[in-house]
Amino acid sequence: MKITKLETFVVPPRWLFLKIETDEGIVGWGEPIVEGRAHTVAAAVDELADYLIGKDPLLIEDHWQVMYRAGFYRGGPITMSAIAGVDQALWDIKGKHHGVPVHALLGGQVRDKIKVYSWIGGDRPSDVANNARAVVERGFKAVKMNGSEELQIIDTFDKVQGVINNVAAVREAVGPNVGIGVDFHGRVHKPMAKVLAKELDPFKLMFIEEPVLSENVEALRDIVNQTSTPIALGERLYSRWDFKHILAGGYVDIIQPDASHAGGITECRKIAAMAEAYDVALALHCPLGPIALATCLQIDAVSYNAFIQEQSLGIHYNKGNDLLDYIRNPEVFKYEDGFVSIPQGPGLGVDVNEEKVREMAKIGHRWRNPVWRHEDGSVAEW
Ligand SMILES: [Mg+2]
Repeated sequence: MKITKLETFVVPPRWLFLKIETDEGIVGWGEPIVEGRAHTVAAAVDELADYLIGKDPLLIEDHWQVMYRAGFYRGGPITMSAIAGVDQALWDIKGKHHGVPVHALLGGQVRDKIKVYSWIGGDRPSDVANNARAVVERGFKAVKMNGSEELQIIDTFDKVQGVINNVAAVREAVGPNVGIGVDFHGRVHKPMAKVLAKELDPFKLMFIEEPVLSENVEALRDIVNQTSTPIALGERLYSRWDFKHILAGGYVDIIQPDASHAGGITECRKIAAMAEAYDVALALHCPLGPIALATCLQIDAVSYNAFIQEQSLGIHYNKGNDLLDYIRNPEVFKYEDGFVSIPQGPGLGVDVNEEKVREMAKIGHRWRNPVWRHEDGSVAEW
């Protein structure tokens, strides 16, 4: 079998899909995307295609090593997301070729289903309590919310109080046993992260996410002393080499690689195994589309330390074009009692609706991250 064609599709709300064709008629789908940089990643995939056309799609590990090492310059969100999408599509082809799900090729599933969490509250966390109650009524056993809005490096206590009030309202609404993840989203700098971590400790959170940006990981040394809450991090890390410092430092309890940013199935599987050796949990980041989510479920299936999966159904970014609109077998993502089953179809397990993809690619998108500013006019982390 030989790879004959790589084709990318920029589709709303903010995604990029990749179709890889072979001379035997088997096709694979991937989702190589960095939010806000879809066209840049598409160009990176196009550059990788020069090498991949004519190659055997089943030699995934070798292609991964060539894409990573033979480019000389390596790492970073653009390159690693391009590699991720290609890797996903190659695993999809390999699974379809053998007529088995990807997890069967990775040693077989260790779980039947995985807990999922739902986003509540959108970008600006207001009215989160009602939102949380509604999500729990739909069966979810865990939710995630943004912690703060703009927060300056040193800020006033009313901002802290606002975060406390929101989290308290959610805890009150959902009761003691629903997991609450609070995402600081890199909006919080070390001085305020210490304050917030201590103040949020009484709410028994499932985790605090990105208490500081991953490039400031040494700041966690101070923060972990303020709280017993598990610390999660990693959506902006792209390889084993990025994660090794985080894991060796011993400051995180949960890692959150994104299978569309961190080199795909091949790399995230290895990152998960590294974390297992440090007794660190896995919660794959996935506010993306259906191919990315299907990819995550394949990794969750074979990763002993996976405990929960992010998913974007109904997320604030997806207004008008949601996860299920692009696949012909939406039942694969049917949530029951707060869990989603491990997919059992061949490859990634999703049947991509190519007609819909082509139709929506005519519309495309130019999604960009919002630019926020502080009261004094300086730019704020979003
Ligand atoms: Mg996050």
